[in-house]
Amino acid sequence: MNAEIIAIGTELLMGELVDTNSAFLATELGKLGIRVGWMSKVGDDLDRLAETIERSWSRSDITITSGGLGPTSDDLTRESIAVVMGETMEVQPDLLEHLESIFAGRGAPMPATNIKQATLIPSAETVPNTMGTAPGWWVEREGRVIIAMPGPPREVQQMWSGEVAARLRAMVPDVTIVTRTLKTFGISEGGLDEMLSPLFGPENPSLGIYAKPDGIHLRAIATSPTEQEARALIEPVEAHIRNIVGDSIWGVDDETPESQVVSLLMERGLTLASMESLTAGLLAGRLADATSGDRVLKGSLVVLDSGQLEDQGVDGEALRMHGPISAEAAEAMASAARDRFGADVGVGVTGVSDGATGSGNPPGTAYMGFAVGDRTFSSSGTYPTHPSRVRARAVTQVLLELARVLRASALQ
Ligand code: ATP
Ligand code: MG
Repeated sequence: MNAEIIAIGTELLMGELVDTNSAFLATELGKLGIRVGWMSKVGDDLDRLAETIERSWSRSDITITSGGLGPTSDDLTRESIAVVMGETMEVQPDLLEHLESIFAGRGAPMPATNIKQATLIPSAETVPNTMGTAPGWWVEREGRVIIAMPGPPREVQQMWSGEVAARLRAMVPDVTIVTRTLKTFGISEGGLDEMLSPLFGPENPSLGIYAKPDGIHLRAIATSPTEQEARALIEPVEAHIRNIVGDSIWGVDDETPESQVVSLLMERGLTLASMESLTAGLLAGRLADATSGDRVLKGSLVVLDSGQLEDQGVDGEALRMHGPISAEAAEAMASAARDRFGADVGVGVTGVSDGATGSGNPPGTAYMGFAVGDRTFSSSGTYPTHPSRVRARAVTQVLLELARVLRASALQ
């Protein structure tokens, strides 16, 4: 079974309204094992609407529309479906009565324009809308379905969970969908695509590649009658990927760099402190936002004026010999942070977010220092982007390095 989603409304085409209904419906259809083949947005125009619905009817088993069920002259979803089906809309006395009772309950006369909300075509039946006046339409013919839903997201969600999901579930065979996300850092999207190219062909499991702020994600999706079978389809693919890209995979599924660092610190009973210049507190913020982050982070210092680093306990000799933007300075900042807060692990981050410092480092360079027990070491990265993205990427790399260090560390 394949589905197609059509979001209706001129507001959507003007960029005024973001189409969240389609995203919601696509997510929910996926849970039922129904693949979405197409999504489109179309304005409140009878000809274009009819053309779009016609095309969907001709190629998709299930068409779901949202919007355009209201009473006004620019709400044209019903009219368009009637055109495509070659059927005539007729007022249904029981629907009209129901509609009139809603208005009577509000103490207002029903405007004549609302009458069309009480119509159906012969192939359609209504889908109750408990949150609004406009019922949906369920149109079924020749084994195909068009489901017309209202526009307001609350009404769509309610109608989906109250009515539509169960009816669609009854139409599709039992399926379980299992997804597995492998999160990588350090290899480019193109590089991964090339290394794993034979894996991108098959449909079950299908493999997707997505660039995210914390690296490139690989997501395998398997569909099977049972969860066990779906997992069995994914396992060899995951093993294959791990074989090829191995070390670059830092986490899976819902794991984040900060959640990993916090759990590693908790497991080992260790605390952390940081001193940040380049990242201006972002590292501490990301850690504090993670569950239990506030239990492992003892403190963080933001030092933006490099002239004050020494006052904050950073080794003056390292600063004078190598400059404040250097691997050595990052290590000295890490040691100073650890000592100042009496933590087990210290982290220091320095670098250049733009080209304005004349430090001899290219813009987008980050140095990250780590002090674990009595050892210090550092790493670096260069990210050629906007300052805020340089900071975000540097924090991600610090967290991923830290997780690696903690995993490898014998310190308990
Ligand atoms: P109404 O009776 O409220 O007019 P309707 O079925 O005619 O409902 P529209 O007029 O198309 O729906 O949309 C009503 C409101 O619902 C929009 O102003 C917007 O706030 C919201 N909406 C419509 N379509 C979407 C969408 N695709 N994504 C998110 N919100 C939407
Ligand atoms: Mg409307």
